Amino acid sequence: MPIQSLRLLLVEDNDLDALSITRVFQRSTVLQAHIERASSLRGALEKLDRSEFDVVLLDLGLPDSDGLQSIRAIRERTTSVPIVVQTGDDRIETGFAAIEAGAQDFLSKNDLKDHLLTRLTIHAILRQRQMLELQEASLRDSMTGIANRRCCDIEFKRRSEFLAHEGIPFCVGIVDIDHFKSVNDTGGHDLGDRVIRQVAQVLRDTCRPDDLVARFGGEEFAMIFSDTTIDELGALQQQHRCAVEGLPPISEKLKVTVSVGATCVLASDDSRSAFRRADSALYAAKKAGRNQCRIEPAIRSMGNGQIA
Ligand code: GH3
Ligand code: MG
Ligand code: MG
Ligand code: MG
Repeated sequence: MPIQSLRLLLVEDNDLDALSITRVFQRSTVLQAHIERASSLRGALEKLDRSEFDVVLLDLGLPDSDGLQSIRAIRERTTSVPIVVQTGDDRIETGFAAIEAGAQDFLSKNDLKDHLLTRLTIHAILRQRQMLELQEASLRDSMTGIANRRCCDIEFKRRSEFLAHEGIPFCVGIVDIDHFKSVNDTGGHDLGDRVIRQVAQVLRDTCRPDDLVARFGGEEFAMIFSDTTIDELGALQQQHRCAVEGLPPISEKLKVTVSVGATCVLASDDSRSAFRRADSALYAAKKAGRNQCRIEPAIRSMGNGQIA
């Protein structure tokens, strides 16, 4: 997508430098830049809090911050805006260190040619946009559009940290479509795919805002129930099971149902051990006749007062 108009945050304490950069963009015939200027890091952070920018042009020598510290401070505020660093320091190492700290590109102030600055700015914006799109795609399941397994692993780690540091409990579950082979056998893979997409959608619509549903693979979905104790888990599982049961039947004889297995996560769990327990619960739900929910306790009683 060509860029014609962009919102640019110019972070520069030197008035003359700020003027010459502004003029570069005023002279440009391909770019229309709406420039806002901040002359300190604090001013820049305030502007970033208030408005959206397509790019930040950042001077590394500011009165209230020095060098790479400014890049890190901006990155802490927002990971999405591309940063192009301009530096009075001609050493190439400074530029590379800036990129390592989170900038997209750098330019020495001694090298301030019109075409170079505008080209760097456009490239930085496009590259950052592509990177964000790829990042987003790498966390989605392409068939259903919901989260994928990788996204689920990341969310599991995040929730585990909340559990370890703040004691916020969470639970995980696995949802598996019952007798899915019959769906494929009845209507072929296209119908099968459509049913997987429908189930994904209905599970996502049933989730609370902080819960996650991800496609684990095939006709299986993983769920993360945030801020949830084992006592609340049964009702949540049932909501999902009932929501799928409420889908219109495929034919007179064929209804879509799911079985759900879940467990509460312990601080000692990793994603494998927690989902393994959820899987045992799922197995029990299947064995008990399908279209039902089961919970596997995190700690099993051995029947003699001890726990395993
Ligand atoms: P159960 O109730 O025990 O879960 O039985 P099931 O038939 O659902 O389970 P099983 O694991 O035996 O079969 C799952 C089938 O799902 C086998 C596979 O061909 C099919 N499948 C896996 N991924 C996809 C997919 O992306 N699209 C379609 N259409 N079918 C898929
Ligand atoms: Mg300066
Ligand atoms: Mg199945
Ligand atoms: Mg399965």
